[in-house]
Amino acid sequence: MNTKNKKKLLLENLYAQYQNCTACPLGFQDRKNIVFGYGNSNALIMFIGEGPGKDEDEQGKPFVGRSGKLLTKILEPVGIKREDVFITNVVKCRPPQNRKPLSVESKTCKNLLLFKQINIIKPKIICTLGASALEALIEQPIKISQIRGTIIHHKTLTILPTYHPAYLLRNRKEIEKFISDMKKLKKLSL
Ligand code: SF4
Repeated sequence: MNTKNKKKLLLENLYAQYQNCTACPLGFQDRKNIVFGYGNSNALIMFIGEGPGKDEDEQGKPFVGRSGKLLTKILEPVGIKREDVFITNVVKCRPPQNRKPLSVESKTCKNLLLFKQINIIKPKIICTLGASALEALIEQPIKISQIRGTIIHHKTLTILPTYHPAYLLRNRKEIEKFISDMKKLKKLSL
């Protein structure tokens, strides 16, 4: 079995193991689907957001709502195809009213799923979308407006933090900075 197929199988097995997960409170909050993550199991770039929203919960796929469409629209001209990357979130179940995941929820889910996904895929670079995704990885509070676009080496991970696309929908003037981060991400992935 080649590496790509092996990684795909490992991800499928991981999903199968947790598709009915109730390990944290979000498992009991009216979720429709676990949003495991989607994309290329052999990806060089892995995007990590905060958690699924309403559309994602309904479809079981990450970044399919308005912010996901904006992300795709920005990535295409930069030369990053969604089918080449892997996209997921820190927590796999939708927090009620799209609130920020509680620390116990993030901690439980990243240990059960996110870190295992990273270990399987072994991306060259991780792009965190929004403050809480980066905070979950490096376990310290940050200010995203100050740290975005800066390469961070944390343990074995190389991380490029940037804004969450949902923030860009509300703050269009920041889109240029996001595009510049995506250009940097593309270069780092080569
Ligand atoms: S958010 Fe993660 S840990 Fe919590 S129930 Fe869902 S899959 Fe399990």
